[in-house]
Amino acid sequence: MRVIREIAEMQAEARANLLRQAEIGFVPTMGALHAGHGSLIQRAAEENEVAVVSIFVNPTQFNDPGDFERYPRTEEEDIARCEEWGADIVFIPTANEMYPAEHETAVMVPRLADHLCGLSRGRGHFIGVCTVVSKLFHIVQPVRAYFGQKDMQQALIIRRMVADLNFPLEIVICPTVREEDGLAMSSRNRLIPPHFRPNATALYRALCLGRDRIRGGERDVNALCQMMAENILQHQPIEVDYLSICSLATLEELERVEFPLLLAGAVVLGGVRLIDNIPLASAEA
Ligand code: AMP
Repeated sequence: MRVIREIAEMQAEARANLLRQAEIGFVPTMGALHAGHGSLIQRAAEENEVAVVSIFVNPTQFNDPGDFERYPRTEEEDIARCEEWGADIVFIPTANEMYPAEHETAVMVPRLADHLCGLSRGRGHFIGVCTVVSKLFHIVQPVRAYFGQKDMQQALIIRRMVADLNFPLEIVICPTVREEDGLAMSSRNRLIPPHFRPNATALYRALCLGRDRIRGGERDVNALCQMMAENILQHQPIEVDYLSICSLATLEELERVEFPLLLAGAVVLGGVRLIDNIPLASAEA
């Protein structure tokens, strides 16, 4: 496995692979890797001749500078795990090379971004995500790119961007990997103060309850969201950032249950923001 830190070297590697018709599978990450990332990397390694993982804590997608500073960075460990999971190349660019002082181009997908995390984290968040992912796609030249369902809004926005801007690649969305108690794995989980850790499953449990009530015939979205919020708030000191039942196609909030839909939420626990979601194709799904 090679570690590449310069954009020109990654581009040369991508060109060499294109010339020998070797397909590149790509997993963009912000590091602090866990088994959720591992599932994407292993799949990329299985389905492509060359698997590339990028590790870049992208400053432009953080609305809160404190959150950017606190974001866990575990590069040495990450490189070792990438090798175990079957990556061929780990690309670790620097912020200075990704964003030189004169950099000004941005990519946005305004309608899909105007919901859920796009509202709570501000418009700049998904502009930062789309811009950095576009740059990485151009640099790495993948045939397939792998994203987690854990960040469903992000995956749908990137899929829209790829279709709209004719990137010649496929977006593969992979299932959410969870801890044994149901908590969705996340780099941020290691920031949860240990005495709050038992409360961290509250969001997933509330989303499951919402899903079960929908399966049981409840169709009133307000009633469902209220029930989920009350359920979460039993696990003080957790705060609800948002809870939504929205169209899986447009991410627009629903009033009555209509399929396919997404149950999605964000909470803050001990200063750490956690997100999760459950897609539901039908009442039987
Ligand atoms: P991040 O490093 O948080 O930017 O995540 C990099 C990629 O891994 C994104 O496509 C995430 O959706 C995905 N990912 C993060 N956590 C999980 C998880 N628990 N299960 C599956 N994919 C995940």
